[in-house]
Amino acid sequence: MAVLPEQVIYMDNNATTRIAPEVLDAMMPYLTQFYGNPSSMHTFGGQVGQAISQARQQIADLLGADPGEIVFTSCGTESDSTAILSAIQSFPEKNHVITTRVEHPAVKNLCDNLEIFTGRKYHVTRLPVAADGTLDMQRYRESLTDDTAIVSVMWANNETGVLFPVEEMAQIARERGVLFHTDAVQAVGKVPINLRETAIDFLSLSGHKLHAPKGIGVLYVRKGTPYIPFMNGGHQEHGRRGGTENVASIIGLGRACALAAEKMEEENTRVRALRDKLEQGLLSTVPKALRNGHPTQRLPNTANISFEYVEGEAILLHMNQLNICASSGSACTSGSLEPSHVLRAMGVPFTAAHGSIRFSLSIYNTEEEVDFVLARMPDIITKLRALSPFWEDK
Ligand code: PLP
Repeated sequence: MAVLPEQVIYMDNNATTRIAPEVLDAMMPYLTQFYGNPSSMHTFGGQVGQAISQARQQIADLLGADPGEIVFTSCGTESDSTAILSAIQSFPEKNHVITTRVEHPAVKNLCDNLEIFTGRKYHVTRLPVAADGTLDMQRYRESLTDDTAIVSVMWANNETGVLFPVEEMAQIARERGVLFHTDAVQAVGKVPINLRETAIDFLSLSGHKLHAPKGIGVLYVRKGTPYIPFMNGGHQEHGRRGGTENVASIIGLGRACALAAEKMEEENTRVRALRDKLEQGLLSTVPKALRNGHPTQRLPNTANISFEYVEGEAILLHMNQLNICASSGSACTSGSLEPSHVLRAMGVPFTAAHGSIRFSLSIYNTEEEVDFVLARMPDIITKLRALSPFWEDK
């Protein structure tokens, strides 16, 4: 039997978000009535092109960018690949890329496999993080060389919510003449962004993380930045990304960006307060529970908590029986006993990394939901620890 949204307590918004009703309303006419091709000469299609222009403006407004700097893609992953591959192809004489040890697989796996994708050998510097998930800026400065083609550093970490000082990092890269890309998939809509005042050259975002549909993304490309398309084809996006536009999703993303600007205050006050209540409640009622990530340099919606000596998957299964949705930082279901690469990079001990749960809230969460989770979690952990051979005598 399907589980309906009204039956679940959804605290997995870093995985994906619900489409906002306002977003769906904005999209519907473009799935039904206005189906013309935006590239057409006729008025019927041309009006769709105008609606796309309006959406482009709404997205640019949220980012503090110009509409001409917005390129529509299919997802955050495509945006990440486009930026990094564009930069390294633009500078064939350079063979060095800088990133971090805690990137999303969209950047991490690309950087791990650059030789396969480009047929050339690359030296990749993966910057380490401290125990609280923050970066060592001195190490970053020292790693920039004349051979560096691009720096790619996420704005906010998807597992812990830890924020990196990408504006400062982009400025440092610019002073060395190096392009800077940020994967801002988790940051857009949650932290204020004004790209005009930064030296960021590329920024990736993804619709389904901010209450727009899955399958739509954006790559911001600063005016004048060398650019080589990832998808060649028609003249869409001024030749920067071929393929007939995903019209309804673009309209939805525009509306979602306007909505995110309106709700950013609430995200940073009410949602932050709910997250703090959840986090402090768990840390104070469950013994041997630890927060992963910097206490303040963090997204307002994310809490990553380790419950020592229990398995994340087992916790999630018990939560699932209560229709509470969250994510775990371990990957035991894939057959590997390796905990998340993010928690490993932070040096979280094995016994804690395996029992980590990521709660990620949104404007749709309520205090009643947080109270419900707080009332149930201690029991779940106590039951599981009673079965754990590692828990005895702790
Ligand atoms: N980057 C980050 C930080 C993410 O959290 C995600 C999705 O979880 C992605 C990239 C990939 O985005 P998409 O699912 O749109 O490809």
